[in-house]
Parts: sequence; structure tokens; C-alpha cells
Amino acid sequence: MSDILPPPTGQALIWRDRANALIAEGLVDGRALVEGQRVKAVAEETFECRSPIDGRVLTAVARGRQADIDLAVGSARRAFDDGRWRAQPPAARKRVLQRFAELLIQHKDELALLETLDMGKPIQHALAVDVPAAARCIAWYAEAIDKVYGEIAPTGDNALALIQREPVGVVGAIVPWNYPMIMAAWKIGPALATGNSVVLKPSEKSPLSALRLAELALKAGLPEGVFNVVPGFGSEAGEALALHLDVDALGFTGSTRVGRKMLEYAGRSNLKRVFNELGGKSAFVVFDDSDALERAAQTVAGSIFFNQGESCNAPSRLLVHDSIADEFVKQVVAQTPAYQPGDPLDPSTVMGALVDDGQLRTVLGYIEAGHKEGAQCVAGGTQARAETGGFYVTPTVFDGVRNDMLIAREEIFGPVLSVIRFKDEAEAVALTNQSSYGLQASVWSSHIDRAHRVARALRAGTVHVNQYDEDDITVPFGGVKQSGNGRDKSLHALDKYTELKTTWIRID
Ligand code: NAD
Repeated sequence: MSDILPPPTGQALIWRDRANALIAEGLVDGRALVEGQRVKAVAEETFECRSPIDGRVLTAVARGRQADIDLAVGSARRAFDDGRWRAQPPAARKRVLQRFAELLIQHKDELALLETLDMGKPIQHALAVDVPAAARCIAWYAEAIDKVYGEIAPTGDNALALIQREPVGVVGAIVPWNYPMIMAAWKIGPALATGNSVVLKPSEKSPLSALRLAELALKAGLPEGVFNVVPGFGSEAGEALALHLDVDALGFTGSTRVGRKMLEYAGRSNLKRVFNELGGKSAFVVFDDSDALERAAQTVAGSIFFNQGESCNAPSRLLVHDSIADEFVKQVVAQTPAYQPGDPLDPSTVMGALVDDGQLRTVLGYIEAGHKEGAQCVAGGTQARAETGGFYVTPTVFDGVRNDMLIAREEIFGPVLSVIRFKDEAEAVALTNQSSYGLQASVWSSHIDRAHRVARALRAGTVHVNQYDEDDITVPFGGVKQSGNGRDKSLHALDKYTELKTTWIRID
């Protein structure tokens, strides 16, 4: 940590003290969790886990490789085959997952601190969003365990055809660093609820909360071996898991580049089912007939700068009608002072640190590309708080962007908004759909016909109308085109982790 950091005050001081205590008490533990035990990597290799807040080393993390994945998958397979979880009565499994969710809430401060220290998000968001959302997800899938029924097909009098859902077996889950706990919960919630065993590979950039989740699951009564976590690098532990012949399904969330590899790994190994939840370049489309422009400006700023812009569904392209563009861009820029990056451990901070130095370089590289391609930077565009030793960027807005520019085509995954102007509805639809991604979109119009027409025409997994931030565990989340093919959340996610089994019974 830098010596020249101004001393934190008030609440920030309290959270910094708590963070120091967490580290001192050894609760920041980077060992893997396999067969119910915290273990070192087989080769006893580790890698450093640094905090993006100030660059300090938090702990050494087990560097999992093939041998570690073999052990974890073996443990998951044994647990599945002997039925220690899958064969328990539904009400018993429900109770375990409910206790697991309760434990997440009981450990809210600790889990939120781990998340903030590990990936730089503001503590207020880790407390108010990440931990409660992960707990709600687990609790919701716990309830689904004894609420989802099978079917009997209408086949006639001389036969009975039962259609049931069976767990697939061993689920491999590979997740990114931007919402480490929520992404893990979105996989393990439905996978465990349906009776599977899981091997989770968290991102090497944010492995800590997933490891703690697995400990809490054990404490809640989940049998050993059912939920294993192996940290490590993508090309080592991740590849070994995705290629493993004894993994039956792979739930992947991450970049489109790596999502392609998941499909290859499945093809090269056992044709395991692959569900990809990938990147986005979502459009926020504002028509001149909207009577909620002030709220639209607040919403687009709040959404693109939330989580430092490191959200797959961040509305990173703002499409605005020519006739209102100058005034609307002014309103968006007027929001940016509220999002200046601050100390993530200070509860008043709303934008924290980017996940690491590499992400900082990537975001600054895109900002440079925006300048070079002729877009006008009307807010931000600079590194901030470099003296802390952490990785911060100011909220950035580029006006005069064309849809063919790099900053309009590629996912930046940082607090950078690209403003593109359009002349009419047809052009707005065409520009929105001219993207290799199709995760989300938002339409702002006060005319119901237009809102419906445009929502229908947009190729995105989710379209919001006159809002952007609605989110609920009951509603599926996922994209089309190169944003992926899977759906997390809702009862639809259960489909990914179950096989449809039909049983024909003859009736004489
Ligand atoms: P990433 O693709 O680099 O890594 C994701 C995970 O894959 C990590 O655990 C990583 O270690 C692993 N991995 C990397 N290379 C691998 C390989 N060759 N084999 C196996 N595993 C490998 O993505 P990231 O930088 O961690 O996360 C950011 C991306 O995730 C963004 O594109 C974002 O849009 C996307 N994302 C999507 C959603 C969604 O629901 N659609 C949600 C959150 C994030």
C-alpha cells in the first residue's frame, strides 16, 4: 500500500480496519476446496492475489492444474454416483440450500469485504447488491427443489409416458471476475438444486469469495465432494475442466473469445453440453418523443458507470436522436461528477477500481483508440488515483462516435460511453442490430406503438422499455448472437442442468 494515501476517515476507516482484521485472522484463504477440505494445489504452486484498491498482496492462491481438476472432478463424480446429495429427499435438500442462503446473509460483511478487496467494487454495492443477490438466488432455487413437477404426455389409454428431469451429473462452472459471487450463485444455485455435483473454477482475478461460498455450503450441510472449487488460470485449470471427460455439462460465463474455446473443448472431448453467457455491447436508444429524458440521462449514466463499467450488460452505446442529441449529451455529462472514482472501502464511493493493471491498460487503450478515430471525448478519459497504487479511470463519454469505430464495436468493459446519433427509427434499429453482440438493449419513447415496434425489431436477449435497471431472479438473463446461448436465472436455468428422461409404461 502506498505511503502517501490520505488516511481514511469515518466509515472508510472502519471498513479498512475490518479488512485488515480479515486478512490478519487468516480469513482470506486462497487454498482450493476439494472433497470438503481446504487443500493446497497438488504441485503446491500458488499465485499472488493482489487488491486492485491499492495493489497490496492479499494472499497466495492455489494454482490449480490438471491434477487438481482430476481430483475435484473425481470427488464430484463419487458424490454424484453414491447419491449422497441427489438422492436425499427434496425437502432435505431444500433445507440445506436455505441454510446456505441464510449463512451468506449472516456473513454479509465478510463476503462483501472479500469481494471489494478482490475486485475493487464499492463496498456499498457489495453489501447492497452482490451478497443479497447471491443469497436470494440460492434461496430461490432451494424453493424450486420441491415445486417443479414432471409431466405425463397425452399419449392415449394403452400407455403412460412420464417425462422427468434428471440431473446431468457433474457440472463444470467457469466464471468471470466482474460479479464473482453472483456469477457463481447463478451456476451453483440451479445446478445444486437439481441434484448435480459441481466443480467451480473462479476467475484468477477474483477467486476469494467463491472459495468462502463453498465453505459456507459445507457448514450448511451440503455433503463433502458435492461442491468443489479449484482456483487457477484459464489456460490451466479452466482448460482442464472444460476438456474433462467426466464433466457432463459446462456452464460458462466470460468473454466471447473464451466462449468459442468452450465449444471447441466440448467437441474435442466428450461433447459435453456447453452453455455460454458471453459479452455485450448493449445499445440504449433514446427517441425524441420521450418525455423522460432527465431520467433517461440519469439511467444511462448510472448503468454504464455501475461496477466501473465492468458489466456484461452495460449500455455502452448510447444511440440518441439527432434533434435532441446536444442537449441530452449535456445532461449525461452533467451526471459524471457523481461517479468520480473513490476508495472502494469508503461507503460513500459509487465507482471503485478496475480489476487489475491489465484491465486498466485495456480501457486506456480503447480511450486512446477513440481519440485516434476522431470521436470527441466530452468527459473523463483519464486514469485517476494512481498514487494509491490501484487502478482507476474517470467516467468517460465520447460523442460523435460512428458505429464502425472500435469503441462502438468492441466490449471495453470499463466506464466508457460511446454516443452515436441517428436520424430516424429505421436507422436506430439498424445501428443497434449492427453488432456481433445481442445481450440487452433499452428503448426510450413515450409512444407505446414505437416502443413495442422497436423492442420487437431489436436482436437482444432482453429489451428494456423506459428503464434499464430492473432485475429479478425470476426472469431469465442471457443473450443472442455472440452474446451466448444460455440463460441464467429463472426456472429456465434448470433446463441446463437436467436431462429430459422419458419412461414408457405399457397399460393392458
Ligand atoms: P474471460 O473469458 O477472460 O474469463 C472467464 C473465465 O474463463 C475465467 O475464469 C478464466 O480463467 C476462464 N478462462 C480463460 N481462458 C480460458 C481457457 N482457455 N479455457 C478455460 N477457461 C478459460 O472473461 P473475464 O475477463 O473474466 O470476464 C469478462 C467477460 O465476461 C466479459 O466479456 C463480460 O461481458 C462477460 N460476462 C458475461 C455475463 C453474461 O451473463 N452474459 C456476465 C458477466 C460477465
